[in-house]
Amino acid sequence: MVSTPIRIALLGRQGAGKGTQAMRISHHFAIAHISTGDMLRAAVRAGTPFGEKAKAYLQRGELVPDAVIVGVVAERLGEPDAKRRGFVLDGFPRTLHQAEALESILLPEGLGVVVNLEVPEWLVLERLASRRVCSVCGANYSVAMPPHVDWTCDVCGGEVVQRADDTEEAIRRRLAAYESATAPLIAFYEGRGLLETVDGVGDPEEVHERMLEALARHGIVGEAG
Ligand code: ADP
Ligand code: ZN
Repeated sequence: MVSTPIRIALLGRQGAGKGTQAMRISHHFAIAHISTGDMLRAAVRAGTPFGEKAKAYLQRGELVPDAVIVGVVAERLGEPDAKRRGFVLDGFPRTLHQAEALESILLPEGLGVVVNLEVPEWLVLERLASRRVCSVCGANYSVAMPPHVDWTCDVCGGEVVQRADDTEEAIRRRLAAYESATAPLIAFYEGRGLLETVDGVGDPEEVHERMLEALARHGIVGEAG
């Protein structure tokens, strides 16, 4: 059977659980997990010119300019894994301009579905304050659910830390940027018939099941059904 690649994008506030759910979806369907936040942090760590450009924005909790991020994403989407089997985008698009750029990158097919993970603001504030992440692979933990061995990642063994931009001030900026720049994408994708809204409150497994149901409504199902 010849099937088309799976193309998913996730929307949702900081702390809504996009990273956690994207990772599960990428394993479930064996597709690429493309997290712009992880890509940017890796570039900052590696000290590449792109990372140098992005560093200050990340620290302040501001969006990196569209022109900087679009090229990197276009390149990543052109790699064989994403092209053949597909991808789940986590953290992109975040502005109307990025959404339009993505449409032209993905011509002629476009995205298969956009899932909006909905979590109320009071809860994301609580989650962000206790969030800890693997500095290598980006896996998420929290003070309440730490990794098994001494703050080293269960997945890759990397060091699990508090993100530098999970400070009160940067969190406030990022949430404000979400409301002004990213929230309009909900209507944009609704207009294209691509939007699915999923309740992001609950344990990760429960939310994952809801996500799979939402994807199935757009014809995205695993090999075993
Ligand atoms: P969060 O959603 O909690 O802000 P991410 O890891 O997705 O975390 O992103 C971290 C930072 O990386 C953002 O605050 C922003 O500076 C930058 N970034 C990530 N994705 C994008 C994007 N699509 N456009 C612009 N900047 C981005
Ligand atoms: Zn890890």
